[in-house]
Amino acid sequence: MTSAILPTYARYQLAFDRGEGAWLITASGDKYLDFGGGIAVASLGYNHPHLVDALIQQAQKLWHTSNLFQIPLGETFARRLVDATFADNVFFTNSGAEALELTIKMARKWNSANGAPERFHIITFEGAFHGRTLATIAAGGNAKYLDGFGPKMPGFDQVPFGDLEAVKAAIGPQTGAILVEPIQGEGGIRVGAPEFIRGLRALCDEHKLLLCFDEVQCGMGRTGKFFAYERYGVAPDILASAKGIGGGFPLGAVLSTAEAGKGMGLGTHGTTYGGNPLAMACGNAVLDILLAPGFLDDVARKGLLLRQSLAGLAAEHPDVIAEIRGEGLMQGIKLRVPNADFASAARAEKLIVIPAADNVVRIIPPLIVSEDEIREGVRRLGAACAHFEVAATPKGKLGADS
Ligand SMILES: *Cc1c(COP(=O)(O)O)cnc(C)c1O
Repeated sequence: MTSAILPTYARYQLAFDRGEGAWLITASGDKYLDFGGGIAVASLGYNHPHLVDALIQQAQKLWHTSNLFQIPLGETFARRLVDATFADNVFFTNSGAEALELTIKMARKWNSANGAPERFHIITFEGAFHGRTLATIAAGGNAKYLDGFGPKMPGFDQVPFGDLEAVKAAIGPQTGAILVEPIQGEGGIRVGAPEFIRGLRALCDEHKLLLCFDEVQCGMGRTGKFFAYERYGVAPDILASAKGIGGGFPLGAVLSTAEAGKGMGLGTHGTTYGGNPLAMACGNAVLDILLAPGFLDDVARKGLLLRQSLAGLAAEHPDVIAEIRGEGLMQGIKLRVPNADFASAARAEKLIVIPAADNVVRIIPPLIVSEDEIREGVRRLGAACAHFEVAATPKGKLGADS
């Protein structure tokens, strides 16, 4: 039967019925090891008892009241985020794109509040992904995502990722902010170099620009730090979070300093669902686990194991794997074979990996993945590599060797 859903997605012929830890299970009982985590969303894996309990408890009390009322769980959650980060305040959204929309609005408003409304331009980077709304496709600059949707929203000046000189050259009288993923996700797990990210901070300070980090994918423990900016020793003025923050419940957040948020007074922004009690119950439950003593250190340790295992894999399969790159449990395998074919070979080995740009597959498992599961996943990646090596071996050579 044809699908009644608007055909914007190229879906695999695969559906899951339930999940357990780092595993996804079909209705017929086939178990897949999930190195994709629903695209870095299922930070605590599937069916985590603490998260399930928090959601059920809240579901039996109250789902939604609107932002006309106090939401105590949201106050708690925001306070905890502020206490754990550079930020002074938080706004809750339902998605990453909405968090980026507010990031963009806030940056523009700050400049306007400073008497410089003409400084609405934001410098962004090639290979970036910030979401699929009209503003965020303009910020991302991917021609494929912009095509046919009318005039591109003005105010985004894109330069090559990692190129500080290009950033300097792009700063003009209309520039008000810089927006960057410290580690590009969809762009192919491209890690911003420390001198680049610190250089952006210095340029922002020098030119009175806001530094905005999109940590929708690389934040919330993914790199072994609560947020990736901690790795660089510099803090942004505004940070967009989503994906892992709700553990699978739709949730995003914008964290900002009091200074960056100073233009966002009463009535300047709003949302119906954002920060509703169900989302806040899940967010708090995710934080309970993520910020428990030792959890992030454990993620960092497992990230090292993953990285080392992948490096070993690359050495064994030089004709399939070109490069391993990433931080913590956010690793990319740059391939010499088509990444979609590789992801499909991995699925044949009952392992989920996620394609990204630059012919990369992303390894972004739930943060609760165990060391044994990492070893097992890497073994399955090796089996996926073998699909291509067997296919590439001339028939005569197999015969001659045996
Ligand atoms: C996924 C993603 C977004 C968009 O999030 P949605 O929830 O899909 O709107 C924005 N930025 C980055 C870095 C992302 O990975």
